[in-house]
Amino acid sequence: MKKVFFFLFIASSAHSFAKNQPAQQRVDYKMQVSLNDQNHQFEGRSQITYFNNSADTLNEVFVHLYFNAFQPGSDMDVRSLWIADPDPRVGDRISKLKPEEYGHQHLSKVMVNGKEGLIIEMGTIAKVVLKNPILPGKKAKINMDWNGQVPIQIRRSGRNSAEGVDYSMSQWYPKICGYDQNGWHPNPYIAREFYGEYGSFEVEINIQKDFVIAATGEQCREIILENNRKSVCFKGSNIHDFVWAADKDYQHDMITLPDGLQVHFYYLKNQGLEENWKKFQEMTPKMFAYMNEHFGKYPYPVYSFIQGGDGGMEYPMATLITGKRKIGSLVGVAAHELAHSWYQGILGFNESLYYWMDEGFTSFSSDEVMDQLFPNPANPLHVDAVGGYIQLATSGKEEPMTTHADHFNTNYAYSNAAYSKGQTYLYQLKGIMGEKKFYNGMKRFYNQFKFQHPTPGDFLAIMEKESGMVLDWYNEYFVNTTKTINYSVDSVVTSPINGAPTLIVLKRNGDMPIPVEVEIETADGKFQYWYISVDLMRNITYAEEGTEIQWIAAPAWSWVQDQYIMQLPLGVKKVTIDPYRKIADMERGDNVWPIVSE
Ligand SMILES: [Zn+2]
Repeated sequence: MKKVFFFLFIASSAHSFAKNQPAQQRVDYKMQVSLNDQNHQFEGRSQITYFNNSADTLNEVFVHLYFNAFQPGSDMDVRSLWIADPDPRVGDRISKLKPEEYGHQHLSKVMVNGKEGLIIEMGTIAKVVLKNPILPGKKAKINMDWNGQVPIQIRRSGRNSAEGVDYSMSQWYPKICGYDQNGWHPNPYIAREFYGEYGSFEVEINIQKDFVIAATGEQCREIILENNRKSVCFKGSNIHDFVWAADKDYQHDMITLPDGLQVHFYYLKNQGLEENWKKFQEMTPKMFAYMNEHFGKYPYPVYSFIQGGDGGMEYPMATLITGKRKIGSLVGVAAHELAHSWYQGILGFNESLYYWMDEGFTSFSSDEVMDQLFPNPANPLHVDAVGGYIQLATSGKEEPMTTHADHFNTNYAYSNAAYSKGQTYLYQLKGIMGEKKFYNGMKRFYNQFKFQHPTPGDFLAIMEKESGMVLDWYNEYFVNTTKTINYSVDSVVTSPINGAPTLIVLKRNGDMPIPVEVEIETADGKFQYWYISVDLMRNITYAEEGTEIQWIAAPAWSWVQDQYIMQLPLGVKKVTIDPYRKIADMERGDNVWPIVSE
């Protein structure tokens, strides 16, 4: 007995050690950049501390050089030229750029622990071969000198946005690629996803003195220099990226929330934007309050909404959004990008692989925020997302959500998998777990895995603990395959013999099983509500608590059976599968008996 106890003790303490101190890399950046606003070229230096917390010896370091995507012949350009449904913001625009409109970014020198590395530049990725390797558990001092040119804005970053913002500086510095238990992730930039190490940033921007600078994090100082220039510094910690923007006509407003959080707003003056941006400022406390209550507490001291970019794009402690919008659209894009802080920012999924967790969880939570701000009972929450996913599933273009974001055949299949199917994933899970356990699970996941790049398996394990249900089947079907959900009421059989039971025959026509709810109107005009779980869940009771409805737990439906028979000692008027539309049923017309002809 003693030995067993001892063994268990060791095992569980090793586990909690692993959770508290994840073996993940850490990268601290100090950077100085000087921008020439006449030719849009810049020079920069980085002093990076790289913590190799992995068990591996690193002989090279990979670095993103994102701006190199904005040159004719780049991967982003070529892919946009051949893909069937190019992003109209990219289209063939890169192929037509003139040299003075290109983006580029080059490393001129990289020193690692005092020894010069060999730089091999390959489009948007550089490989730096090290003289001496970085050993497991050791940190390395990496100094980089770099230079480049800010492109005409094609996608996300660049100069002269369509709305007239001078500089939208995202993906603008040499960024160390992600490294984890699966090795390096030097994904070329084709305008898709991001993944980087957590650490701290301290960035000094040297620029003509009339520019107003907006950026990730808190401003640390502003010094006026000679020659009409100034140096502005921003810093932040526990973040994996850094964005800034500059314009001479920025209006800068700031509000402080009751918990002390400072929220900044930067938008162009004299464009008639002020009225909507002020209205939007009044709504931001509610956005933070809903997110904090349902999905976990925002951990940073500041957040900045910055007019810039070409739509909406999230960055740590900040977003770039286009600003000439009607109020609903402005608040909608702001709520969406803010919600990314919880997922892209703080959980930091490897977005190339788990883009659907990032966009899906973000869309799910920001739609709930918007429903608080602009209630619209005619359009029930999450139903549009389910509709978008069903369209994808029936389009013939769907690819499994396990497909790497860069490698989808169409932008349509990628974005619907990311946004609509990702949101449907959470919406159905909320139905399976019940509201209370679902939101508790969302917060538990956030608190346990913040700043740690969790995976879909990490998420599901938390939801299993919270619900007491086995849920692995859910990812196996919904994430790993394109199998679909489709139930129907096959028939309702009443025996001519008096007092014999009514048989209700339900059918699973889709390849994917999921728990179903069944509403039965009996001959005497009363309603019954049945809950039929899937046997793989090893739990037959209904999760929802605190509702008016008395749910009756039926025996679980076996995953190997495509038919399920209910017996009722009563006559039946009407049977409805999934009356509250909690599942993405591909064909809803046959969910009701008798079929209503229109
Ligand atoms: Zn998004």
